[in-house]
Amino acid sequence: MSTSDKLFRQAQEIIPGGVNSPVRAWRAVDGTPRFIQRGRGCRVVDADGKEYIDYIGSWGPLIAGHAHPQVVRALEDAVKRGTSFGAPTAKEIELARLVVDAVPAVDTVRLTSSGTEATMTALRIARGYTERTKIIKFAGCYHGHTDALLVRAGSGALTLSLPDSKGVPEAFASQTLIAEYNNLASVEAQLSANPDTVAAIIIEPVPGNMGVVLPDPNFLAELRRLTVEAGVVLIFDEVMSGFRLARGGAQELYGIDPDLSCFGKVIGGGLPLAAVGGRRDIMDCLAPLGPVYQAGTLSGNPLAVTAGIETLKLMNAPGAYARLNELGSRLAEGLRRAIRDAGVQACVNQLGSMITVFFGVEQVRDYTSAVSCDTAMFARYFHGMLERGMYLPPSQFEAAFVSLAHGEAEIDETVFAATQVMQQLGS
Ligand SMILES: *Cc1c(COP(=O)(O)O)cnc(C)c1O
Repeated sequence: MSTSDKLFRQAQEIIPGGVNSPVRAWRAVDGTPRFIQRGRGCRVVDADGKEYIDYIGSWGPLIAGHAHPQVVRALEDAVKRGTSFGAPTAKEIELARLVVDAVPAVDTVRLTSSGTEATMTALRIARGYTERTKIIKFAGCYHGHTDALLVRAGSGALTLSLPDSKGVPEAFASQTLIAEYNNLASVEAQLSANPDTVAAIIIEPVPGNMGVVLPDPNFLAELRRLTVEAGVVLIFDEVMSGFRLARGGAQELYGIDPDLSCFGKVIGGGLPLAAVGGRRDIMDCLAPLGPVYQAGTLSGNPLAVTAGIETLKLMNAPGAYARLNELGSRLAEGLRRAIRDAGVQACVNQLGSMITVFFGVEQVRDYTSAVSCDTAMFARYFHGMLERGMYLPPSQFEAAFVSLAHGEAEIDETVFAATQVMQQLGS
């Protein structure tokens, strides 16, 4: 029995399912999740000493790689000065400044400890600001695990076929209206069926939580136009895409100014940190300025803020995003070649450092096409890659991430492994 097997048994006795977040249990691909003992750069080492090239990157935060020396040094320094004060610190201003400078649509920003808190807060602000109650979300988009947003959610909820969680009162879920991604008519239909009652539309501008899906040309711009017309707050949930697709996130790439934006993952550099930000008049609804309450004992935690600042500084280096795009394209092209040569039915969706291989379909552009994928074939691909030292997300409905710590050599090694696995799947 491997050390991971033993640890997983122990964990299952005292932690529900042995994990502290469901997708880590590998239910969608079977097998024992690897317990990780350490990581450096683009590699992680499991409890049995086996090394992998990592494409999870802690599910997004580690865009600079594991244990980046600059991040580690700053954290060592910070930890000696105390880990939490529950009082403001100068470093919070520094991080807020990095966000405000990078994202033109963000005038002010409030820090939280998780992406879930950020989106929850964004909805509360939107409801307080508009004095309306309903929200529209898109099928397959995941925005964290608050009640209102666990309706037709992606990611773990999709993996486990639990699109609607038990424990969410119907009265809450009924305030959440669903539209289809890349389908403007579905948004228009919800807006006209619910006149003057929709507070917000929340969207992953480039969804990563049903696997990576790209917006059709003009889809996001049209959404912006519709929300302005209807007096609806447009919330871009850039917890995954923010500071990843570009310094200014998906909103920079597509030239859209949402009213509110949520960040997480990358802005915490691997520590618990997220943020909600946006237009000053809307953000001013937040306590202590306004009537919308929000708080957090560890919000703006000095260690988390330190890791975030150092990570964003690394991403501010000239050419950082061009480099990520290059590596992402190289991987996508290699995978497409492997798929073609093996005659496997699959497609690759990639934007910058976000990438998903979907099996059994010609293209994926929304929730319906995502869930029609061949998840059994994905599981075989996953295990084939794992055997060859490639640590991919253990679900069809997740994005794999390339980091600045990956190099051409690792990408080519990965493509080589994928070529072998695809040949097996195709034969
Ligand atoms: C990860 C994620 C969240 C939730 O963030 P947590 O820190 O896990 O609570 C919300 N929205 C999107 C788009 C995400 O990818």
